[in-house]
Formats: sequence, structure tokens, C-alpha cells
Amino acid sequence: MSFNLIDGKKISADIREGLAKEVQELKKNGIAPGLATLLVGDNPASEIYVRNKHKACQDAGIVSFNHVMLKGSSQTDVLRKVDEFNNDPKVHAILVQLPMPPQINPDAVLSLMSPEKDADGFHPYNLGRLLAVKDFEEIENSKIPLPVPCTPLGIMAMFEKCGISLAGKNAVVVGRSIIVGKPMAALLLSKNATVTIVHSQTKNLVEHCRRADILVAAIGKAKMITANMVQNGSTVIDVGINRDAGGKMCGDVDFDGVKDQTSWITPVPGGVGPMTITMLLKNTVLLAKGSRG
Ligand code: NDP
Repeated sequence: MSFNLIDGKKISADIREGLAKEVQELKKNGIAPGLATLLVGDNPASEIYVRNKHKACQDAGIVSFNHVMLKGSSQTDVLRKVDEFNNDPKVHAILVQLPMPPQINPDAVLSLMSPEKDADGFHPYNLGRLLAVKDFEEIENSKIPLPVPCTPLGIMAMFEKCGISLAGKNAVVVGRSIIVGKPMAALLLSKNATVTIVHSQTKNLVEHCRRADILVAAIGKAKMITANMVQNGSTVIDVGINRDAGGKMCGDVDFDGVKDQTSWITPVPGGVGPMTITMLLKNTVLLAKGSRG
């Protein structure tokens, strides 16, 4: 079977072009969309992620502020900084880079952030709103902007751009994190897919995966999804970012072993990754627009 590659770089580039135009329009109307990032510590991967996010902001014309705090910073200091961003009119969206050092409770930090400035959509209020959504259009048309976690939102944009329909399809999400798995399931439901979430305690994982018309892997285990777990003609979305035995970046899906059974599949790198950053820009623009009602 010949498969179609879902090109996250290309789809991202198209969306970013549109966002850059929107930013120009907003600036003409006196709103310069601003994203503030908060990085605590010196985790090298986090430093790279934050740098890439600022570069993407710059390319789109979004103003970005980067605040780095020492690894040993106290929770009080971190909360104080978040509160400063909450009260800064130049900042429309705040991103707290996770993971944070062990002395910081991420839930406390995310909850203190103003939901109107929640760039990642991880605030409990926004996650609750996402669960209450009946159909996907409600998210886009909501009068009060609803920022949705960037990775699953980016995956929904991929489905749309590739014309992959979801209604009535069996969708299986492997992984149940707040960052990917749970919001992914809510979004798939909002497009009328029949959704199953599987995780490390699931029995018969292989059978569940084999029933999937749409399989989303968000596990963090290199090449765990193998050919025997994939239905012929399915769509496979690989969220994982791992290193294989040779140190090369790879996903949670054994791409070479699986691809010929799929009708659509994302590569790693160049699949979901670029979409995540693009949706961060999209959320920032959305929140900037919302700041004026
Ligand atoms: P988490 O570690 O928070 O969640 C992993 C999930 O996978 C958990 O729900 C866990 O189950 C499940 N899991 C682990 N092992 C198994 C197994 N053997 N069988 C079935 N389920 C299993 O990770 P994230 O959701 O944050 O991220 C997942 C991956 O996606 C990582 O590689 C991460 O780097 C990547 N990522 C990529 C992004 C991108 O932009 N491309 C963005 C965000 C993440 P349980 O809950 O039972 O422990």
C-alpha cells in the first residue's frame, strides 16, 4: 500500500504565514501580540525548546520576553514572576516551560497563571472548558478565547489540512498526559470520533491499537508501535520524541516497519513537532485578540 506523508513542516509554514499577516493587522490596530516564557533551571532540552519558540515568535512578528530563573529558585519566587506576567499589559500569553525543578509544584504555577494568558492551555479552567465543548467549531467560535494544548491542537490542524475525516472513526490515543493524551481525546470526541485512551495499565494494548482507524502515539518509548499493532489503511500520528540505540531522533512509532500499512503517517522529526510551536503562536494571537474583547 502506498502511504501519504503528513508534512508537519509544510503545514506549519502555511499556517505561520497566515498568522504573521494577522499579527501585522493587529499591530495596525495597536495590539502587539506578546508571549512571555518562564524557564526555571538549565535543562538543555528545555533551553533548546524555549529558544525555538522565541525564534518562531520573531519570524511571525510576535514580541517575546524570556525570563530565566536559577535552578534553585523557590516556588514563591516563581509564583511572583508569574503574577508579574499576569499584570503586564504587554504580555498576552504566558508559557511556563515544563518540567520544572522538583521543589516547584507545576500545578500551583499553572493554576496561578491567568486563564486569559494561558499560552499552552494547561490551566485547569481551560482544560475544563475543553471538556465541556460539544463540537470543535465551538472552540474556534468561542467569544471568550479558549487556548487548547498546542500538540493535540496541531494534530487537529493536520487532520483538517490533509482532509482526514474523523466522524465515526475509531480513534485510539496511547498515553493519558494532560499535555497530549487527554486533550487529544477530547478534541477527537469533539469531531465525533469514537475514542479509546490506552496507557501503561491497559490490557490487550495490541488489540486496541489494531482496531484504530486513527492511532495517536504519545508514549515516550522509542519505536514501541510496531506493524502488528497497526490496521491496514489507518492514519498514524507519532507524537514521541526519543533517541534510538544509535542516538538518532525517532518517534514512538517504528516508522519504516509501519508506514506501508498506513494511508497517512507523520514522520519524526518534521511531523507533530513543528505543529506544536505553530499552535503556540496561534494561541498567542488568539489571546492577544481576546485582550481587547
Ligand atoms: P508522559 O510521560 O506524561 O505520558 C506518557 C504516557 O504514555 C502515559 O500516559 C503512560 O501511561 C503511557 N505509557 C508509557 N509506557 C506505556 C506502555 N508501555 N504502554 C502503554 N502506555 C504507556 O509523556 P507526554 O504525554 O508528555 O509525552 C509523550 C511523548 O511525546 C514524549 O516522547 C514527549 O517527548 C513527546 N512530546 C512531543 C511533543 C511534540 O511537540 N512533538 C510535545 C509533547 C510531548 P501511564 O499514564 O499509565 O503512566
